[in-house]
Amino acid sequence: MKLPLAPQAETALGILQGAGYEAWIVGGCVRDLLLGRTPEDFDLCTAARPEEVKDVFAGHRIVETGLRHGTVTVLVEGMPLEITTYRVESGSADARHPDQLRFTHSLREDAARRDFTVNAMAYAPGRGLQDFYGGQGDLKKGLLRCVGEPDRRFQEDALRILRALRFSATLGFAIEGETLAAARRQKGLLVGLSAERVAGELGKLLVGQGAKGVLLDYPDLLGVVLPELLPMVGLDQRNVHHCYDLLTHTAVAVDHTPPQIALRLAALFHDCGKPACFSLGEDGQGHFYGHARESAALAETALRRLRCPNKLRERVVKLIRYHDSPVEEKFLRRWLNRLGEEDFFALLALQRADSLALAPAYRGRVEALDGIEAQARKLLQETPCLTLRDLAVNGRDLMALGLEGRAIGAALDRLLTAVLAGSLSNERAALLQNLTDFDAKNPDKKEKK
Ligand code: ATP
Ligand code: MG
Repeated sequence: MKLPLAPQAETALGILQGAGYEAWIVGGCVRDLLLGRTPEDFDLCTAARPEEVKDVFAGHRIVETGLRHGTVTVLVEGMPLEITTYRVESGSADARHPDQLRFTHSLREDAARRDFTVNAMAYAPGRGLQDFYGGQGDLKKGLLRCVGEPDRRFQEDALRILRALRFSATLGFAIEGETLAAARRQKGLLVGLSAERVAGELGKLLVGQGAKGVLLDYPDLLGVVLPELLPMVGLDQRNVHHCYDLLTHTAVAVDHTPPQIALRLAALFHDCGKPACFSLGEDGQGHFYGHARESAALAETALRRLRCPNKLRERVVKLIRYHDSPVEEKFLRRWLNRLGEEDFFALLALQRADSLALAPAYRGRVEALDGIEAQARKLLQETPCLTLRDLAVNGRDLMALGLEGRAIGAALDRLLTAVLAGSLSNERAALLQNLTDFDAKNPDKKEKK
């Protein structure tokens, strides 16, 4: 068997082996190569101790951040490679941190600490594949199976439960029966994990191709870290627009958004406020007045809990806040102005996904949204004016006309409003003319500071 490694990985293996140390590529990159995918990065494992790895790569740039765990990152021909000494982990008191870490000379022992059989294979050119736990067979079957005894492995590190869901979403694999049963027994341990580790796995899960299936199959597991999902399970919306229960509607909407984290998070939480807002109308229809605001508030809390970066959180909350607001063509400029270009198109993408998750008879809004998008793009091409900064005049121009202090800001605001309303074109000459006319009509305005 010959796998197509990146030349830098091959070089690094050659250097280690040339110095007398056993070395392999290992984990996700081997799995991806066997699947015919291009690995995102190449991880190496070796019998060499970290200090020895540093000596062997003395001529290269080295990053020592992972040294405590036996990892040395080496820059080889422009590619960062993580090189980790074979190690054994045993027992964990709190399901978060491996208690003990010791180095070993055995690749088999190193493989035993890895999470799933498909992630526990190693390979080196000329030496072939090392597969101690049936990883290749599980890869063929599309199965995620713990290495060793699943309850114990989840007790050692509960993040592995979320990793199983993550890999299920990204690889489209099923979780093997014993492994899944153990995950369900141990799910309570997810509560103790650090927010950053949880968020890392959830993020990868959500942008995975199979995110919809994972949301639908494992809300009980996800609900431990995302309790917002639990009241959505099976919630009958009792409304003609909807053919799905709330969780299914949500999962279908997620599936219809482009795989970008902000949009996927927005889709995930866009209706999470609905259970709290349900009312039954006299017409026998379910209504959810105020749910956009409620969902935005719940998403804000959830994303803070997950220590999501501020910018991403604000973006997601904003999209959710407006997900239900109809964007009308005549107010396009105002919408663009309010949200900014990027978020505006993201909002259209979210609304499109939301519409595609309605009952079939009500999915027609998608065409209207396509029309609005085309219209907005045209508008931006014609006059890409949006904010004060985009006006064809600036404060200096106004000072040259004799305006001072606050009058400058007020005049700029007035110009922008007129341009956004379409009553004034964003051209320098037209704007300056407007200012002169305005001053002539309001001679006292100029004096105000
Ligand atoms: P990706 O393609 O997303 O990087 P990956 O399999 O490389 O997937 P990483 O998180 O980069 O995943 O981890 C690299 C390898 O380290 C895994 O393949 C696995 O062998 C091992 N590993 C990572 N995290 C754990 C864990 N929590 N428990 C056990 N083994 C782990
Ligand atoms: Mg990796």
